[in-house]
Amino acid sequence: MTTLALTIAGSDPSGGAGIQADLKTFSALGAYGMSVITALTAQSTQGVDDVFAVPPEFVKAQFASIIKDIQIDSLKIGMLMNKEIVLAVSELLKASSVPIIVLDTVMVAKGGHPLLKTDAVDAIRQRLLPLATVITPNLPEAAALLQCDEAISEEQMQEQGKALLQLGCKAVLMKGGHLSGAESPDYLITPEQILRLTAPRIQTTNTHGTGCTLSAAIAALLPQMPLIEAIKEAKNYLSGAIAHADDLQIGQGIGPTHH
Ligand code: PLP
Repeated sequence: MTTLALTIAGSDPSGGAGIQADLKTFSALGAYGMSVITALTAQSTQGVDDVFAVPPEFVKAQFASIIKDIQIDSLKIGMLMNKEIVLAVSELLKASSVPIIVLDTVMVAKGGHPLLKTDAVDAIRQRLLPLATVITPNLPEAAALLQCDEAISEEQMQEQGKALLQLGCKAVLMKGGHLSGAESPDYLITPEQILRLTAPRIQTTNTHGTGCTLSAAIAALLPQMPLIEAIKEAKNYLSGAIAHADDLQIGQGIGPTHH
């Protein structure tokens, strides 16, 4: 059976991140992709120039149209931009029964442009996190959610992952890409175990949309296999996309990965 996967996220017209990366990832992994758009960005590989947030009522309207017609197997949440959209999405999810929710806690673009207002972080922690099957924070995002300093060691990553689990999600994938070193260690933290997952650090500047791609890959794979397998396979998919990123040569800035 084909997995029916939905992304609730922002648009990147340059095609490297956001909804566009998610749909490419869904297709590459054999899922049928759908999208509810929360925000339009005007951006390129050189950065985000502007953001237009979709009115929360229209975020709800998009979801309402598809949910009454289509049985969704899994969804991922990406850029949400503001508190009103976070609250709208949490209401939608509570009223529906999508079995798998992958929450990518998107806050700031690689170029530094905010993709979430700071006053929306509390709403993500309180309203969305408890609904998630798995959350995929990077280290700055984990620190913002926990209101603490950013982890600078693998021990601190594990501690913060455990603290996030206490906030009500079923699993946490702490992404260690911000740590220095030859490896890029991630930690998968569930109530049962802590698993260290590594991938070699690939030398490229073309990493636009990596977080979007990873969370979309997990959403595409999770209906087909156990969590640990889905995360390992999603990481493999992302490593391949990064390894081939330089073949693409799109734009002058931080280019996309190759799906
Ligand atoms: N633009 C949109 C719409 C996104 O959803 C994201 C990430 O989630 C980004 C940009 C950021 O991409 P990156 O930080 O990988 O450049």
